[in-house]
Amino acid sequence: MEDFNYYEILEISQTCSQEEIKKAFRKKAMQYHPDRNPDNPEAEEIFKKINEAYEVLSDEQKRSIYDRYGKAGLQGGAGGGGFGGFGDIFGDIFGEFFGGGSGRQKKKSDLKYSLDFALELNLEFKEAIFGCKKEFESAYKIACKDCGGNGAKKKSTCPQCHGHGELRIQQGFMTFAQTCPHCQGSGEVIVEKCSTCGGKGYENKKEKIEIKIPEGVDNGNQMRVSGKGNADKNGNRGDLYVRLNVKEDDHFVRDGENLYVEVPVFFTSIVLGTKVTIPSPHKELELVIPANSKDGAQFIFEGNGVKSLRGNYYGDLIAQIKIVYPKKLTKEQKELLEKLHKSFGEHSEPHKSVLEQACEKVKKWFGELGK
Ligand SMILES: [Zn+2]
Ligand SMILES: [Zn+2]
Repeated sequence: MEDFNYYEILEISQTCSQEEIKKAFRKKAMQYHPDRNPDNPEAEEIFKKINEAYEVLSDEQKRSIYDRYGKAGLQGGAGGGGFGGFGDIFGDIFGEFFGGGSGRQKKKSDLKYSLDFALELNLEFKEAIFGCKKEFESAYKIACKDCGGNGAKKKSTCPQCHGHGELRIQQGFMTFAQTCPHCQGSGEVIVEKCSTCGGKGYENKKEKIEIKIPEGVDNGNQMRVSGKGNADKNGNRGDLYVRLNVKEDDHFVRDGENLYVEVPVFFTSIVLGTKVTIPSPHKELELVIPANSKDGAQFIFEGNGVKSLRGNYYGDLIAQIKIVYPKKLTKEQKELLEKLHKSFGEHSEPHKSVLEQACEKVKKWFGELGK
């Protein structure tokens, strides 16, 4: 394969953002698209290169590999016998290295736990749409007084990486750096565990948390409670993240700010038209169902849904018709229906006038074919 630089082909710098990569790709792809350049092998070649470059650079993990090792790093086993098992090693090393996404040089904290943590909070459907106050108990970690949170009474330089925090692996003519698995990159290992905390580095503390849940929150929303996370040895606390788990309702189905409610209507009411009272979060509403409404027909009550978290407005309530037919008929009901049916005369058999004509027509077609 011809060697070319992914950044050069897209005319972008090596430090550009994903947004810029996407923009550059769109522009170039449009310019060199085969539809715009018929019978132009040169444009086709460039178009292929642009796509190849974008495929790599739009993937942060692949991009990092490319930045460090060039195309050879990405092609894995393609180089032949010498590179056997290459892909797997990449997976292991880079999975660990870039698994977190952004922070390549994550600052290693001495703590054995993170300062931020998350917990889940269950909410009733109505608590989410109206908002509420919630009080719950949270267990957070405070750094062990004796070891300051690192869990060690005595530490020494990691014998595997000699304090570097990373290991270098030789693969053919290339060298890879891997976070030392023995010390997790800290360069030190615990020789003797802290006896106060048993090596954990923390003790648990409980506290009551009271939060105000705003009107309109939805399932999966996350709220940050600043300063209620775990504490380090100086008493500085991280943040607590509360993930909301909202129960479903028996009658309302929520879709963002809109609420759906199913309105079952008996078939006779559909033919006659009717009025029904339907619930909405703030008041009862009157739904006028015109005669001959279709199954699944929707009627929108603007502003009767859930309050938006983004602004001072409400979504809609959408009432959806579900036609209900009788499952069983008594003898008397059957007779009544038959009587009703007959009362419509020829209108009760619309298939006759329409389909008899069609049958005649098709018969004629066959007649003509036979000739
Ligand atoms: Zn300790
Ligand atoms: Zn080490």
